[in-house]
Amino acid sequence: MDLLLTDARRAVRDLSRRLAAEVVGPAARRADEERRFDRGVIDALAREGILGGPIPREFGGGGWDDLSFALCCEELGAVDASVRGLLCVHAGLVSRCILDHGTPDQRSRWLPPLCRGEWIGAYALTEEGAGSDAAALSTTARRDGDGWVLDGEKIWITNGRVADLVLVYATVDPALGHRGVTAFALLPGTEGVERLPMPGVELGHRGADHARLVLRGARVPGDAVLGPVGGGFRVAMAALDHGRLGVAAGAVGLHRACLEAVVAFARSRRQFGKRIGDFQMVQERIADMAVELEAARLLVHRAALAGAGGARRTAEVAAAKLYATEAAMRAAGEAVLLLGSRGYSSESPVERHFRDAQGLRIYEGTSLVQRIILAREILGKEGS
Ligand SMILES: Cc1cc2nc3c(=O)[nH]c(=O)nc-3n(C[C@H](O)[C@H](O)[C@H](O)COP(=O)(O)OP(=O)(O)OC[C@H]3O[C@@H](n4cnc5c(N)ncnc54)[C@H](O)[C@@H]3O)c2cc1C
Repeated sequence: MDLLLTDARRAVRDLSRRLAAEVVGPAARRADEERRFDRGVIDALAREGILGGPIPREFGGGGWDDLSFALCCEELGAVDASVRGLLCVHAGLVSRCILDHGTPDQRSRWLPPLCRGEWIGAYALTEEGAGSDAAALSTTARRDGDGWVLDGEKIWITNGRVADLVLVYATVDPALGHRGVTAFALLPGTEGVERLPMPGVELGHRGADHARLVLRGARVPGDAVLGPVGGGFRVAMAALDHGRLGVAAGAVGLHRACLEAVVAFARSRRQFGKRIGDFQMVQERIADMAVELEAARLLVHRAALAGAGGARRTAEVAAAKLYATEAAMRAAGEAVLLLGSRGYSSESPVERHFRDAQGLRIYEGTSLVQRIILAREILGKEGS
């Protein structure tokens, strides 16, 4: 894998690692405990070019390839899943989606402020009745003169209350099923949008903003449609290939952080007159965590490289997200156990990693849904 670490990728990794250590990491515990979205951290990432990293330079981005983006997500994911999550939504689900499906005019108007971090992006697909079955959404879009009027409710929208540009998926005709789904951009100043916090306290990702968006007669201009009318489901799914890669890479970072915490503790903690790392049962767990970490990282890097030249890599991304997030969950559970009582307290970051890891298995398609996607890709359609 070191062969893949070109100077450009190494520079992205080193910059991300430095920002993780100096900016994101030190703020993570407080953001989690106060359930507060820290805009100062995001502004610092924006100043260093992270928010526009995977967008071409002509739009103000960093021109990173997918492997560079994965390396960045691993570094940020090792210290804070909430900040890494913001980046994956903003850059993966929103900016990359605009780059892939936007008109030249949309790209030149929307991407530069997103890259500079003046705008934050959000991706609004999920509804009360449409989670894994996203095509079942019931938010409607009705033509009104040159524009469209949107009505409906979206839930669990990351960055939803702070976002300046929200990609909303709505149907132009519920009878058309997924063929009616269309992507719209809500831009600053759009009226008829109420942004509410999600009820309850999240298990993890508490330093992130999760919102319920209520659209009541929200009017958007005709040029706010992203991609073809009726082509929004494909837009949404293609965006998820970018976003899931970042989630999988973030899971590798979380896993790595858990392993590092366990190794440091196992070297120093003494019980029964020995380092606990000298007990074979502890060694077995450390070895398993290390092997699973390498396997997860290889799958993530394979998925990143599979997209070169714009190639479809849905199966590779689904495999990486499935394995990396499940492995991270196992690693976080082992870390809590192996740190003993310390792992059970917010004094140690592994307590937060354990809660955050659960979310990785759910959003952008649960682990069960990744298996469905993968099996569909392997089996193909009947008769194909
Ligand atoms: C922290 C967090 C952030 C999020 N951010 C966003 C966001 O920014 N934008 C957005 O649009 N959404 C977001 N979501 C929503 C997320 O994408 C959904 O929660 C997810 O897709 C699952 O949908 P659901 O919760 O409705 O579960 P459901 O679809 O109701 O599923 C419930 C259970 O049934 C299983 N299941 C469903 N269908 C099948 C099937 N066919 N076969 C086998 N099992 C099945 C699922 O795997 C799951 O275990 C976020 C969620 C969380 C927790």
